[in-house]
Amino acid sequence: AKAFIFRNQFEGFPKESDFQLTNEQLPSLKEGEFLAEAEYLSVDPYMRAYAPRVKTGKTFMGSQVAKILESKNPKFPAGRHIVGEFGWRTHTVSNGKPLSTGVPTAWLIPDIGDLPKSLALGVLGMPGNTALFGFLEICLPQPGETVLVTGAAGAVGSLVGQIAKIKGCKAIGVAGSDEKGKWLVNELGFDHFINYKSDDLRKKIKEYAPHGIDCYFDNVGGEISSTIMLYMNTFGRISVCGAISGYNETKPPKATLVQYPLTFNQLRMEGFIVHRWLDRWFEGIEQNKKWIEEGKLKYRESVTEGFENTFTAFVDMLRGGNVGKAIVKI
Ligand code: NDP
Repeated sequence: AKAFIFRNQFEGFPKESDFQLTNEQLPSLKEGEFLAEAEYLSVDPYMRAYAPRVKTGKTFMGSQVAKILESKNPKFPAGRHIVGEFGWRTHTVSNGKPLSTGVPTAWLIPDIGDLPKSLALGVLGMPGNTALFGFLEICLPQPGETVLVTGAAGAVGSLVGQIAKIKGCKAIGVAGSDEKGKWLVNELGFDHFINYKSDDLRKKIKEYAPHGIDCYFDNVGGEISSTIMLYMNTFGRISVCGAISGYNETKPPKATLVQYPLTFNQLRMEGFIVHRWLDRWFEGIEQNKKWIEEGKLKYRESVTEGFENTFTAFVDMLRGGNVGKAIVKI
């Protein structure tokens, strides 16, 4: 098995020298174990955020779509495809037992018809459920309301805006390039796009949300988020999904002002981890699959070829090089 070993804790932006590519001999299968071969790896922002919790000297974390090659575990039969929390490696021997957090180490990909298996790392997996539950359960969007989402052209954000449209809301997306904006508006049906790198954020919000924002799905945190909150309506809802604008900072985050808009606009702000809805995992996948089949939910993948290029795919995603879900094809 080829594997990326985590050598050094990141300081600021991850460096290639923080990893070591190794070749490992795998043990033979014991009763209750199976051997899985990776077909696609996922690269996600949480890997940067959670890295301080990973011990150096171990395989770096992450999910993969893998095929079971051999099995001595009836729950994971040979030939089936799974999503496994095996990290950045090509082959894994696992017993499939859940992690100590209760999160499954591996789950069988349900029947998704002719759709690509790689979607189990995106719209039909963790990012899809993050968008679905994190938006609907926390923002509680009502028809006619205005929804704003940051990180709008990414795996999670691109789905949140489309689900907002499905629910009869106005969707405004904030992302980092005009090319991304064109995709959001022309292909995904977002009503408006704001480029946080080149547009005047305040001016554009006033133009696109003249009656204020009711729901804010926050993928980025930082100053952009504090500014957005100033334009929220009374009793607005904020779903705090992530804070990627700060993940690569070496200094502690700048103090941002949230108390003022939270108080005076009487907002509700709630953070979440998608595993809150583990008991509804397959319901989420089924819902997103149905919307794809009905033509209501579109997805895009940014695919990097080759296991050896996983690090490149990871940093490219952190820099905004991806549109939709960033994955690696082995
Ligand atoms: P994306 O596909 O959105 O990829 C990351 C994107 O972040 C990049 O494409 C880039 O787009 C944007 N970005 C990078 N740096 C900055 C910055 N300084 N300011 C603003 N945007 C930036 O990733 P995901 O959809 O997988 O994740 C989106 C967010 O959701 C992350 O914060 C992640 O941690 C969080 N998350 C949380 C989960 C939970 O359970 N709470 C589960 C899954 C994800 P651009 O060109 O627009 O800058």
